[in-house]
Amino acid sequence: MMCRACNSPITEFFSLGQMPLVNSFLKKEEILGEEKFNLSVGFCSNCCLVQLMETVAPEKLFRDYIYFSSTSKFFLEHCRAIADELAARLKLNSDSLVVEIASNDGAQLSAFKDLNIKILGIDPAANIAKVANNKGIPTLPEFFNYELAQKLKAEGTQADLIFGANVLAHVPGITDFAQGVKTILKPGGTAVFEFPYLLGLLEKKFDTIYHEHVFYYSLLALRNLWQSVGLEVYDVEQTPMQGGSLKIFVAYPDAFAVSGNVDKLIDQELQAGFDKLTTYQAMSDKVQSLKNELIDLLAKLKSEGLSIAAYSAPAKGNILLNFFGINNNYLDFIVDKSGAKQGLYTPGTHLLVEPISKIDEAKPDYLLILCWNIADEIVNMPELAEYKKRGGKFIIPVPAIKII
Ligand SMILES: [Zn+2]
Repeated sequence: MMCRACNSPITEFFSLGQMPLVNSFLKKEEILGEEKFNLSVGFCSNCCLVQLMETVAPEKLFRDYIYFSSTSKFFLEHCRAIADELAARLKLNSDSLVVEIASNDGAQLSAFKDLNIKILGIDPAANIAKVANNKGIPTLPEFFNYELAQKLKAEGTQADLIFGANVLAHVPGITDFAQGVKTILKPGGTAVFEFPYLLGLLEKKFDTIYHEHVFYYSLLALRNLWQSVGLEVYDVEQTPMQGGSLKIFVAYPDAFAVSGNVDKLIDQELQAGFDKLTTYQAMSDKVQSLKNELIDLLAKLKSEGLSIAAYSAPAKGNILLNFFGINNNYLDFIVDKSGAKQGLYTPGTHLLVEPISKIDEAKPDYLLILCWNIADEIVNMPELAEYKKRGGKFIIPVPAIKII
């Protein structure tokens, strides 16, 4: 296997084996024909890029995506804060254009629209792009790549801000994508991308590995990538999104002074060994001991006659359940807030997704929180007040097991 950015050989360091597509929830009649695909991760010693050994065709992964971002109030507040911050920092006004790549149902763009800034969304999930267009957020139902960028440029599209949250990790043809970004970026414009930080993998947050995430970025690898198309990372921030993310600011080399944050984080990465294969090889053992610890805990609770339900079925949760072998052997049921998932079966583990109200009906003793990155939000949800009052407990499984 050759590196998708620099074409040097990559070495596998962690494998989850055959996994289902974790965002493909199933109707009952689809369970029998469910497909699984190899899921393993490798490292390129030449450009430091951590990436999947094999990928699944994007058309299979993203055309009917079930995730609608506007389901969480916290997420909408986050979008507003991002729009306010970037509009102020980049001095955006009513003449400016913001292009969002993987704009989903338009939650982020709608926050820019409220600031009277021009917007354009691009999202390959036709069903979700339709929802956005119906809400007045202009959205192209397309994959973003160099070819589309050239078409947009020919039509006069030049962006003051290109924004992409959780997209950089998803695109197998990453050099082509980066060239596309350069094509529609104004000379003085900025591209901002936010994505899960590689550091998480080394901290046992292994459940961010799934087929949609082709890349697990360090700043080292990203600096090389953008340099290869003639752009520069001029600032970087660490954010708590998705259990630990990086936000990078990219522009033409002379457009902005490079912040000291860039060299500082690169130094930290070199000290932590992000440029060495051995650093990644240590990951496997750590994840195995986390698995043993969680299974022991669930088995002990079951042997005491206690009941356990899983709270929410995010992609990462489906990876954890499948890789650890947790299904109805330990779980009584699973709930999710999203109406789009309720009534369907979880990928690989085939648990029927129930509404949140099932918790007050069935009164489980423990909730396994699979969206552990927002555990604080979950524990304090008004919908779970009754559950807590009854003495219900929460198990947070990653990065270290915690019972609340
Ligand atoms: Zn490489």
